[in-house]
Amino acid sequence: MRQVLWFRRDLRVEDSALLANASKNVLPIFIFDKNILKKLDKNDKRVTFIYKSVLELKKKLQGLNLDLAIFFDEPKNVFTNLKKDGFDEVLCSVDFDSYAKNRDEEIESILPIKRFIDSFILNPNSHLKKDNTPYKVFTPFYKSLNIITQSYNIEEYSFNKNLEKIEFDYSFIPTLEQMGFESQELPEFLSKDAIELLEEFRAKVNKYQEERDFFYIDASSKISVHLRFGLISPKQVFNYFKSFGSADCEFFIREIFWREFYNYILFHFPHSEFDNLNKLEIKWNENEEDFIKWCEGKTGVPIIDAAMIHLNNTGLMHNRLRMVVASFLTKNLFVDWKKGEEYFAKKLLDYEASSNVGSWQWSSSTGADAAPYFRVFNPYTQSQKFDKDGIFIKSVFKEFENIEPKLFHIENALQSNLFVEYPKAIVDIKLSRQRAIDKFKEAKNEQ
Ligand code: FAD
Repeated sequence: MRQVLWFRRDLRVEDSALLANASKNVLPIFIFDKNILKKLDKNDKRVTFIYKSVLELKKKLQGLNLDLAIFFDEPKNVFTNLKKDGFDEVLCSVDFDSYAKNRDEEIESILPIKRFIDSFILNPNSHLKKDNTPYKVFTPFYKSLNIITQSYNIEEYSFNKNLEKIEFDYSFIPTLEQMGFESQELPEFLSKDAIELLEEFRAKVNKYQEERDFFYIDASSKISVHLRFGLISPKQVFNYFKSFGSADCEFFIREIFWREFYNYILFHFPHSEFDNLNKLEIKWNENEEDFIKWCEGKTGVPIIDAAMIHLNNTGLMHNRLRMVVASFLTKNLFVDWKKGEEYFAKKLLDYEASSNVGSWQWSSSTGADAAPYFRVFNPYTQSQKFDKDGIFIKSVFKEFENIEPKLFHIENALQSNLFVEYPKAIVDIKLSRQRAIDKFKEAKNEQ
């Protein structure tokens, strides 16, 4: 039996379904997928991160007397050639978004595939309500897992030591430039490995619940990018914090299960990747200008603009800010959540289809366990509450260094300072809030 171990978004050797379940003679591979890469900008930071992670994985596999064959091609060409070379089957971890599902079906028509759930803890198919329908609300879903009573045990995969690498030409390593990309500067924390990040976060986990919403404080784990590309598995993260058994860790673990929940929702309701989970005919505002101003951070609302400019510069955005800018786009500007979702998909380093779609539908009151439609964040109240001294806003707008912070938290107050050039807000917060509520009421009445 000659097996191909197809690494994709599971770029690690610990707790690896592929390395645990392979039988003996293996060819570990990674494909820089031309179908995906052609859609990305040449300065996409994620490609630099993946590239570094793949080279790291190659080194780690070499340390285990294996290796990694790297391709820059379309997956179907790679597997057609591997079939000709006499390979029998492919092992990979299952991915639930539509591109991945279609790609894998195509590959399965070339070589048989064995799939493992490795990027998420739960098999979404095996966890249903008593009436055999899927959960749609987070709290009962989470409670049913009995994590709180600590009876939830997760076994990690152990490495199969009998593996032998198949003779192959492992020497090809394309450069980023050959693939059409430019090497990008990455945020400093991404140069750390996942365990280092967890250890750093462990020292702060007792303050997580209290501080996680303050977007000028570094209070969260910053593990989402590593999780996204599988440099650590969610099981490893769960087990690491569960072993400490404290209530603080429990609160954090709950967040990890939001990621599971959104994957579960996408699995059971695949239409929700592109459409409202709950059928609602909403007549969104099609004004492209408003949307572009939001993307570019030119709305005239300091907290929104700072968050968007920070995202554009770094690929990062704090969770609370994601909620605030999403509420602003979909409620105050009344722009379709799908446009915001697509923009985040292009920019976020930790972009994950299920979490992104689920969270956008949460913010826009169109999805599973979503915010009620009349809940519209007031961006000024949010910045007053979670960035009172304007530390985050000033970190983005250096020219506001000497501005009195209270001006950031009052609608159009910055214009009263003669030394500041800043646009007037493109929308009136109170009026636009009411417009959103009325439009939602209208859509609900039409159901
Ligand atoms: P922590 O607060 O330390 O949380 C630990 C982990 O729990 C995260 O890494 C993540 O895996 C998970 N988690 C936490 N909150 C959520 C949540 N609301 N939904 C799902 N998982 C969660 N997260 C992504 O990983 N990818 C996305 O594309 C994404 N898009 C989002 C879009 C919007 C509009 C919103 C409101 C949230 C989105 N999130 C997304 C969730 C959340 O903002 C990030 O997971 C979090 O900010 C990552 O930082 P952290 O690792 O420090 O999180």
